[in-house]
Amino acid sequence: MSNSEALIRRQFAELSETYSELRLCEDAPSRWAIRGILAFSATYHDVTITDAFSILVKLPKDYPNSPPTVQETGGRIPTGFHQYPNRTLCLGAPVEVWRRFKADPRLVTFVNTQVVEYLYGYAYFEKYGEMPFGELSHGAQGIREYYQELFNTEDVQIVLALLKIMADGAYRGHHACSCGSGKILRKCHGPSVLELLKQQPKERFLQDATNVLYSLKESEMKNFDWHLLPKALKKELDEMARERARREKCA
Ligand SMILES: [Zn+2]
Repeated sequence: MSNSEALIRRQFAELSETYSELRLCEDAPSRWAIRGILAFSATYHDVTITDAFSILVKLPKDYPNSPPTVQETGGRIPTGFHQYPNRTLCLGAPVEVWRRFKADPRLVTFVNTQVVEYLYGYAYFEKYGEMPFGELSHGAQGIREYYQELFNTEDVQIVLALLKIMADGAYRGHHACSCGSGKILRKCHGPSVLELLKQQPKERFLQDATNVLYSLKESEMKNFDWHLLPKALKKELDEMARERARREKCA
């Protein structure tokens, strides 16, 4: 038994103590999944909801370095409700999902907190027609709002400029902060940036910056400073533009 298999089996045993109708399966070598009924009773702000959902939890190959993904398999949650196009549940902004998972990388904690909160949110929505917690919008817009709130700014260009520092691995505490406050990074947005850098690898910040870019409205594109984009993203967009120009020339 490999170390990761032992860890997964141990974590699953712990999960089963609370959720007895879930089963662990190895779908292919090192491809672990958990299937079955997740029955829960949860209370937030004095409202208790007792419910059960059919779920599929997939563990990534590098588990527990990355968090699991979750799908609802009973056909109860409609596609329009906080899901990615591949039907994976959108448990929150990816960086937040990672941050919470990394704080206690165990299946039981992941299910107890992130998965149950999501399912509670859906069951509440079904019953009362509204979301129980302040709602984070879906997908790109949600990621953008997450960072806007975290960096305490309405300005999406500042969000991208700070994401660029993380995606490019270019943190220098004595440089001027990208928000334009005139303060040095260390005395301004630096602490939030350093905290985020601990949560996920820099490729994920590149992905988040791409999502924020896709959330831009047309009116925001007009004065957009393309130099605020992470280097790898700018390079990709430049290549796409060159490719387009080449095709247009040939036609
Ligand atoms: Zn700042």
